[in-house]
Amino acid sequence: SLILGLESSCDDSAVALVSSDRRILAQAVRGQNDAHRPFGGVVPEIAARAHVEILPQLIRDVLEEADVGVADVDAVAATAGPGLIGGVMVALLAGKGLALAANKPLVAVNHLEGHALSPRLVDPALGFPYLLLLVSGGHCQLLEVRGIGDYRRLATTIDDAAGEAFDKAAKLLGLPYPGGPAIETLATEGDPTIVPLPRPLLGSSEPHFSFAGLKSAVQRAVASGLHRPADIAASFQQAVIDCLVDRTARALDRSEAPALVVAGGVAANGAVRTALAQLAASRGRGFSVPPGWLCTDNAAMIAWAGAERFEAGLVDGLDAPARARWPLDESAEKVRGAGV
Ligand code: ATP
Ligand code: FE
Repeated sequence: SLILGLESSCDDSAVALVSSDRRILAQAVRGQNDAHRPFGGVVPEIAARAHVEILPQLIRDVLEEADVGVADVDAVAATAGPGLIGGVMVALLAGKGLALAANKPLVAVNHLEGHALSPRLVDPALGFPYLLLLVSGGHCQLLEVRGIGDYRRLATTIDDAAGEAFDKAAKLLGLPYPGGPAIETLATEGDPTIVPLPRPLLGSSEPHFSFAGLKSAVQRAVASGLHRPADIAASFQQAVIDCLVDRTARALDRSEAPALVVAGGVAANGAVRTALAQLAASRGRGFSVPPGWLCTDNAAMIAWAGAERFEAGLVDGLDAPARARWPLDESAEKVRGAGV
């Protein structure tokens, strides 16, 4: 089947045409970094308005590039959450309009399921179950992915997400938004062993992540004036990696899953990828991480999650709600309460 995917849940407008046999016919991502840079982070109202301006043309461009009409697609997949609600509504309403006009089924996709299933778009050998480290701008979770729509959350962050930590540390270092790529670049010129930074929850018997204390330590390191920014960047990145590896190792040692998978924006980081690949190898597990462009926000992962759901018979009505919050494992959310 052929699926049109639409994404606008944060600051990237994205459209993609993906087939269920893993062909990406066309795709486009348009960021809004310039619009948000003066504010050092994403401004929800600016993002929503920009999506309204960008998305319709992006849809036209992608359909034209693939020489496909909406009549030729089998379903329209749109991110329905979680994310900035004004932005989420743009792609979801556009998807509903296209689905209604062309009489196609709508698939309301959870953005996190897009990240979670993205490795399967490029790795046909990756079957269920797998242990997923989902590291993005808004999330840092370990999940057991058992099948389409079947997720069990094993761990989450008790404060900041990993990508959020990168963005905050970058801001403290005076680096441009988004912080992740900027820190990664600066870190190549620094010594990761030179600035003493904490590794929150390292070795903890609890499964969770924490990054707020690390951010505060970066703040103190910057304020001290004792260190080169490149050394702070490299030491910060190494501290995040140590935490990710430690927490993931704990989960891996308690899991029967044959493979470790990493997804989400932070998985675009080369040092993060290398460290987790080494961890998987040390535990005799398979390893899969999507290429960088598929880790950060895009619509190919939304179209692909839509394809997986469509093939499984999981389609939605035109009354599908836009959701600011939408955990992949709703049971975990109910048991542990908000945030944790
Ligand atoms: P979520 O998916 O949780 O809703 P999001 O969609 O905003 O949040 P993503 O687009 O998946 O997040 O990831 C963006 C995050 O990834 C940002 O915090 C960014 O700094 C981080 N990131 C991107 N590239 C890199 C990199 N090379 N190294 C580290 N972090 C990175
Ligand atoms: Fe994302």
